[in-house]
Amino acid sequence: MILGVANDHSIAWAIAKEFHNQGAELALTYPNEAIEKRLRPLAESIGVDLILRCDVTRDEEITASFESLRREWGSLDILVHSVAFALPEDLRGRFIDTSRQGFHPALDVSAYSLVAVTRAAEDLLAVRNGSVLTLSYFGAEKVIPHYNVMGIGKAALEACVRYLAHDLGTRGIRVNAISAGPLRTLSSAGVKDFKSMLHHHREHTPLQRNITAEEVAAAAVFLCGNASAVTGEVLHVDAGYNIMGI
Ligand code: NAD
Repeated sequence: MILGVANDHSIAWAIAKEFHNQGAELALTYPNEAIEKRLRPLAESIGVDLILRCDVTRDEEITASFESLRREWGSLDILVHSVAFALPEDLRGRFIDTSRQGFHPALDVSAYSLVAVTRAAEDLLAVRNGSVLTLSYFGAEKVIPHYNVMGIGKAALEACVRYLAHDLGTRGIRVNAISAGPLRTLSSAGVKDFKSMLHHHREHTPLQRNITAEEVAAAAVFLCGNASAVTGEVLHVDAGYNIMGI
């Protein structure tokens, strides 16, 4: 089950295509009608007919979508959480100016929702040693100008990964994150000066380039597949950017 396909640039879409190529049977979710419209043709193009409404701020939609999965499949091997949100005004200017009205939804959608969907999926994941994957960014670890409240959201998300991995380890369920390098998507377009982030990244990574969504998808296959002793981990898929000091 993959949450977070908004369009064909979404990281979740690259993951969906790669999981499809690997033979996975997929379910995709959308939070509202506007995204549903874009999602349906994409889903059809890879033969997915399990398309569920799941706004992660609504507990009843989370419950209903996993109840549908339980009826359809009875178990779940992989849950991918590729969801984040912040108010546009909080992704520019100074972090100190983040309002309570901006802080709460950013942390709710970008971090707490992982806890909520993982709990809803727990019994289904436990059937066959399932695996959970979420998407993070280096702004969790270091200051990235304009990333602001989303950096705090990602720091919380990465801590949630570790606590969830501890809780669910006894049931054989693994929980990991990929910290992806910057990619041009609907969400990243909201970060002020994102273009210069891409440029800076390209100039300063050991590999001297940006990454692709397909490279994130390949790492997702590894983490959700053969990486059977890896849990609570944040894997950087960033062309090595995070190792640099200067
Ligand atoms: P995207 O805009 O394609 O995906 C974000 C998704 O979040 C969308 O599908 C949107 O519908 C979903 N979403 C927002 N609010 C929601 C809600 N209330 N309920 C359910 N879904 C909701 O952008 P993306 O870049 O593919 O982002 C996917 C993930 O990858 C995010 O967690 C993002 O922070 C992370 N990430 C992105 C980059 C990047 O540079 N693009 C880098 C590292 C990590």
